[in-house]
Amino acid sequence: MAQPIIKVQDLVKRYGNFEAVKGISFEVMEGEIFGLLGPNGAGKTTTLEIIETLRPKTSGSVIVDGIDIDSDRQAVKNIIGVQLQAAGYYPNLNLKQIIELFAGLYNRTVDPLALLDKVNLREKAKNKYKELSGGQKQRFSIATTLINQPKIIFLDEPTTGLDPQARRNLWDLIKQLRASGATVVITTHYMDEAEELCERVAIVDSGRIIAINTPHALIDNLLASGFTRAKAVKGANLEDVFLNMTGKEWRDE
Ligand code: ATP
Repeated sequence: MAQPIIKVQDLVKRYGNFEAVKGISFEVMEGEIFGLLGPNGAGKTTTLEIIETLRPKTSGSVIVDGIDIDSDRQAVKNIIGVQLQAAGYYPNLNLKQIIELFAGLYNRTVDPLALLDKVNLREKAKNKYKELSGGQKQRFSIATTLINQPKIIFLDEPTTGLDPQARRNLWDLIKQLRASGATVVITTHYMDEAEELCERVAIVDSGRIIAINTPHALIDNLLASGFTRAKAVKGANLEDVFLNMTGKEWRDE
C-alpha cells in the first residue's frame, strides 16, 4: 500500500477578507498522479503554490515527504519540480544554456538535449526562450521541472493551449514520469485528461473539496444515482477524427 507523500490538513488561505481556501484536507499517495479539478477561481493554484512553498498560508498544515513546510522550505524545494507560469527564463540565453544554468544551481548533471527531446524541442536548443511559440514555451516549462530529478512534480494546467498531438505526447511523458517513480500533482480543466492520467482526483469548488476519489468511482457513483446522458454517445469523437487524419506525431506551430 502506497504511503502519503503530501498531507494537507485544514488548509486555509485568506486574501484580505476573502477566503479563497476554506479548510481543505487531502493526501497525495507516493507514485500516483493526483488531479485537482475545479472551476475558475476554485482555489487550485493557491493550494498548489502553498504546497510548493511559493505562497504563505493563513492556517493549517502541509507536510511534504515528511517535511513540514513551516520548518524547512528549502528541503521541500529540493525534492519538488514546479512548472512556473509565464516565467522569464533569462531572455538572452538559449534553451540549452538555461537548462545548464538550472542544473548548475541544483548541483545536478543533466543532458540538456535528452531533456529537450522529451518535449520535442531539440531543434530549438540554440533558440532563445522568447523566440518560442506559446506551445513550445509551455513544453519547455515542463522540461525545466525535471532538471532536479524531483520526487514530486507539480503541473498547473500543463496542456492548456497545446494542439491535440502535443497534449497526447505530454500525457505519455507524464505517464513515463510516474513509471519512473515520481508523484505528479496536476490541475486541469480537461476532464478527458484527468480521466486518462489521474489515479485520483479532488474536485474543488469555492475553496472546498466536494469530492475525492478515483475517476471510475466518481463516474460509477453518478450513474448509480440514476444519471443518464441526454444523447447516446458515439464510439469516437471529433478529436479521434482529427488525430486519425493528422497523425499522432509532434507538430510544430
Ligand atoms: P483557475 O482555474 O482560474 O486558475 P484557481 O482554482 O487556480 O482558478 P486561484 O488562482 O487559486 O483559483 O484563486 C482562488 C481565488 O482567490 C480567486 O477568487 C482569486 O481571485 C483569488 N486570489 C488569487 N490570488 C489572489 C491574490 N494574490 N490576491 C487576492 N485574491 C486572490
